Amino acid sequence: MLKVAKFGGSSVAGAEQFRKVRDIVLSDPARRIVVASAAGKRDARDHKLTDLLYLCHAHLTYGVPGDDILAVIRSRFGQIRSELGLTYDVEAEFDAYRATLSRDTSVDELVSRGEYFTSKLLAEYLGFTFVDAAECVFFSFDGQFDRDKTYAAIAAALDKYGRIVIPGFYGKAPTGRIKVMTRGGSDISGALAAAAVGADVYENWTDVSGILMADPKIVPDPRPISHITFAELRELAFMGASVLHEDSILPVKERGIPLNIRNTNCPDDPGTMIVESVAEETGENARLITGIAGRRNFTILTLRKRNMPPTETLRDALEITDRYHANVEHITLGLDSFALVISSAALENCLYDMISDMQKICEPDDVDVRDGIALVAAVGRKMTSRPGTSGKLFQALGQQGLNIRTIAQGADELSIIVGVENSDFEKAIRVLYDGFTG
Ligand code: ASP
Repeated sequence: MLKVAKFGGSSVAGAEQFRKVRDIVLSDPARRIVVASAAGKRDARDHKLTDLLYLCHAHLTYGVPGDDILAVIRSRFGQIRSELGLTYDVEAEFDAYRATLSRDTSVDELVSRGEYFTSKLLAEYLGFTFVDAAECVFFSFDGQFDRDKTYAAIAAALDKYGRIVIPGFYGKAPTGRIKVMTRGGSDISGALAAAAVGADVYENWTDVSGILMADPKIVPDPRPISHITFAELRELAFMGASVLHEDSILPVKERGIPLNIRNTNCPDDPGTMIVESVAEETGENARLITGIAGRRNFTILTLRKRNMPPTETLRDALEITDRYHANVEHITLGLDSFALVISSAALENCLYDMISDMQKICEPDDVDVRDGIALVAAVGRKMTSRPGTSGKLFQALGQQGLNIRTIAQGADELSIIVGVENSDFEKAIRVLYDGFTG
């Protein structure tokens, strides 16, 4: 059994959190690869080291002293070292690095030091070997990962050292320089490590007990999701649920490795298991809906044209939206009309030009524009096999007097999406949550 455990910024924010991480890692000998983010916030008023490092770089660029910020970062590392009684002289290495900083220091190199120093401290504390991501995570010239080289290097490091800590978020470009991923990228590093060694599970340790059925800022105390498929997760993330870094899913999904989201602060909670398919649909898993998510600020553009050749007119309209780079999220088709749902932000500077083009080319009888629409999605793999989901959904919304402006169902029947007024967004999510869990 082999597990890769990735710990997010809040899990390594300070000495107290390091202790929890050690208990978790050492409680299971299968946890032989640890991937760490940079120390994050210890409380609401604290700062993530990565944010501070970006701020430092801005100071360097403008030639303004950033000494105070560097001192804060240095003391965060020093505090962890001394509170845990480690021997690694992190301050000395930090000072040596600091002496190399100049206007020409690349932003990627500087911000990667958050993960670098945090992981070095963690490696000593766990008794694992530190393996620099610059030596085992590689990019190719097109900015994508060089998977073969990365997988071979991580597998070799594990073979050689047995138990390793790899810093997340960065790797090496073919130029030899350090390159960081997008924010939250340590999720990807962990997934690459899990795929590299064919781990039995990729554990992603964070500060929540898994993915929740709905946004806790909208629904009080929503239930955690025990099992979810990769496809459902993608759908929920697309509809606005913020979960994992999207790119982190692919490497593990490809290799059929389950991804388990766990809570460092409640290690006994089972968290959420993300898998390719769920075999047994009993208990919690039998619930019709897996999760609910949504996004605000869409515009519905409806074109009506009596006796129109629908596909032809739709094709013309889509060519026009394409020309304006306005991504169409949903289409509903009627006999003499169709409606396009587009994010209002994408239409901000082009709506009138676009409509004028449509009027010229599609020659509709009329065009209707309705903005201020929110899309709310109920996502669930069981929708295909069990009739009545949409009936239940519309009933719940109707009973609460919520007006539905548009309806769409994903072609793979993983989600039902309804458009409501922006002002009804939160209420719609609560109503659906209550309707499907109550
Ligand atoms: N430390 C980086 C960030 O704050 C990467 C990560 O945490 O995954 O975005």
